[in-house]
Amino acid sequence: MSPSSRDVTYDVCIVGSGAGGGMAAYMLTRAGARVIMLEAGPMWNNTTDSAMLKWAHDSPRRGMGTSERAFGEFDAGLGGWELPGEPYTQAEGSEFRWFRLRMLGGRTNHWGRISLRFGPDDFRRKSLDDLGDDWPISYDDVKPWYDEVDRLVGIFGSVERLPNHPDGIFLPPPRPRCYELLVKQASDRLGITCIPSRLSILTRPLNGRPACHYCGQCNRGCAVNANFTSTNVLVHPAIATGRLTLITGAMAREVTLDRNGRADGVLYINKQDGSEQRVRARIVVLAASACETARLLLNSKSSRFPQGLANSSGVVGKYLTDTTGTDLSGFIPAMADHVPHNEDGVGGAHLYMPWWLDNRKLDFPRGYHIEIWGGLYPPSYGFMGGIQSYPPGGGYGKQLKADYRKYYGASIGFSGRGEQIPNVDCFCEIDPEAVDHWGIPVLRFHWKWTDYELNQVKHMQQTFRALIDQMGGRVWSPMPSRESGYDIATGGSIIHELGTVRMGHDSRTSALNAYCQAHDVKNLFVTDGGPFVSQADKNPTWTILALSMRASDYIVKQRKAGKL
Ligand SMILES: Cc1cc2nc3c(=O)[nH]c(=O)nc-3n(C[C@H](O)[C@H](O)[C@H](O)COP(=O)(O)OP(=O)(O)OC[C@H]3O[C@@H](n4cnc5c(N)ncnc54)[C@H](O)[C@@H]3O)c2cc1C
Ligand code: SF4
Repeated sequence: MSPSSRDVTYDVCIVGSGAGGGMAAYMLTRAGARVIMLEAGPMWNNTTDSAMLKWAHDSPRRGMGTSERAFGEFDAGLGGWELPGEPYTQAEGSEFRWFRLRMLGGRTNHWGRISLRFGPDDFRRKSLDDLGDDWPISYDDVKPWYDEVDRLVGIFGSVERLPNHPDGIFLPPPRPRCYELLVKQASDRLGITCIPSRLSILTRPLNGRPACHYCGQCNRGCAVNANFTSTNVLVHPAIATGRLTLITGAMAREVTLDRNGRADGVLYINKQDGSEQRVRARIVVLAASACETARLLLNSKSSRFPQGLANSSGVVGKYLTDTTGTDLSGFIPAMADHVPHNEDGVGGAHLYMPWWLDNRKLDFPRGYHIEIWGGLYPPSYGFMGGIQSYPPGGGYGKQLKADYRKYYGASIGFSGRGEQIPNVDCFCEIDPEAVDHWGIPVLRFHWKWTDYELNQVKHMQQTFRALIDQMGGRVWSPMPSRESGYDIATGGSIIHELGTVRMGHDSRTSALNAYCQAHDVKNLFVTDGGPFVSQADKNPTWTILALSMRASDYIVKQRKAGKL
C-alpha cells in the first residue's frame, strides 16, 4: 500500500471486485469520484493471464483441475469449494457448499455468462402467490439499468416477447449446434419453449472490444475480452480513469464508524504480512458477495450496533437462498457415428429453455429454466469417463479407440435451475468459535430444503427424462427417489447465493432501502447479491450488475445534492 492511500480520505471505498464491486467502481470513477477498492485476491488481467488457446496435451495433467483451480488447470478461476485458511462451518444437520474465487474480478472470471433479466412478476411474487416478499422496486425501476448494462457489457439473444422473460438489447445469437437442434425438435414436440441463449458474449464488436472468434473457452478467461468479466470490462477501465486505487491481497474485516455512527472506512488485513491496515472513505460500498458481505456486517459490531452493522432489523444473514438444481444426461444413439464437423461456438450452449408452465396446474410454486449440454468440446482429462456404459460395454485397444470416436458427442444432458422460496431454516451467522487464518470469525451455515423445492426438482427430473425419451435416448440413471431428494443439488452448490442483506421499505424487516443503502447507516451501500428479496427462475448476475449501476447512479446524484 502506498503511504498516500493510508493518509488520504477517499470519496468511496469498495470491498470486492466481482460483478457488484466492479460495476460500482466503473460508474463511480467515471462520475469523477476518487475510489479505493479492497480485493482479497491477487491481480488478474485476461489479456495477459488467460490460457484461452492452450491444448490439454500442453499439460502433464491434461488439463485436470487442482485444489487452486476447481474447474481445470487452464481455468481462469483462482479458488474453489475450499480456500486455504478461510474455513466456514455448518450447523448440525445442515449441508451447504460455498464456492469462492479470490482474484480481481471475483467469480465473473469463471461463470456461465447466462445473463437473464428478472421479469415483472419476479419483483412481486408475494402479491401473486403469497409466498416470500415483494421487492420495494418493480421491473420498470430496473429496466433502464438492464438496458444500460446490455449496451455497456454486451449480450446476445433473440426478441421473443415471452411473458416474464423480458427481451434485452441483443446482439445476434450464434446458430444452434447440431445436438441443440435435436433438443429443439424434442422440446417443440413436448411443448417446451426452447430459444437462443442470452449470454454476455459479443457476437459483434462493441465499445472497443472485438467479437468472439468461437474458440469455446470462455471459462479460461478471454484474452481478447469478447466475453464479460468484471476484471477487464469494468475494473481495468476504472483503473484507466486514474481515479481508482486498487489494493489486492486485502482482506476486509470490519467497517469502521465515526462518532456520529456514519461509516468512515474499512479495516483490512494485508495478506502478505498479516498486518492490519485501515482506509478512510466518505462512503463505503460492500460487494464481497452475498455471504461475505453479511459476514463483514455481522463482524462490524460496536456499542451503537451490537448486533452488527446495518442490522437493527436482525435480517443480516437471513433469507439466504440458492438456485435449485438437478442434472441428467443420456445416450442418444442418433448422435453416434456422427459426420465430423465443426461445432465451434461460444463457451456455453447456444439454446436454452426458459420457464414455460403455469403453476396453477402444478404442485410447486415458481419455476425453473433448463440449460443444455453436450456436443464436441475439446477432449481433456476425464474425457468420456464411463465409456463402458455405452453399448457394447467397453473394451481395449483398437475397439476402445473406435468406440471413443463412435460415441464422441453422443451424450446430451440437461440442468434445471429454479427458484427457491426464502425460508427461516436457511441463513448464515457468525460461528461463535471458529476463526480464519487471520483470526476473523467465520460464517456458520444453516440449510433446509422444503417440499416446494423438492417437488420442483422432481418435475425437472421428469421433464429431462421425457426430453431424452423424445430424442430416442437412454438415461444413464434411474429416477431418483423422494428419500434422495430427487437428486437436488446441495444448498449453495449452484453458486447463486442471494438475499442476506435484503432491501425493503420497512427498516424493521429489511437492512437496505430500494437503492441498496443501509437504513441504519446512510453512507453504507451493498451492491452484490445481498440486497435481493427473492431468487427467480433466472441466474442473478445481470440483476446484480443492474442494481449496482442503479445504486451507483444514486450515490452520484446524492453526492451532487450534498446529501452524502
Ligand atoms: C461456475 C459458476 C457458474 C456461474 N454461472 C452463472 C451464470 O451463468 N449466470 C449468472 O448470472 N451467474 C452465474 N454465476 C454466479 C456469478 O458468478 C455470481 O452471481 C457473481 O459473480 C456474484 O458477483 P458478486 O459481486 O456478488 O461476487 P463475486 O463475483 O464473488 O466477487 C466478490 C469479490 O469480493 C472479494 N472478497 C470477498 N471477501 C472479501 C473481503 N473480506 N475483503 C476483500 N475482498 C473480498 C472476492 O475475492 C471476490 O473477488 C456462476 C458462478 C460460478 C462460480
Ligand atoms: S468463445 Fe469467444 S468469448 Fe469465449 S473465450 Fe473464445 S473468443 Fe473469447
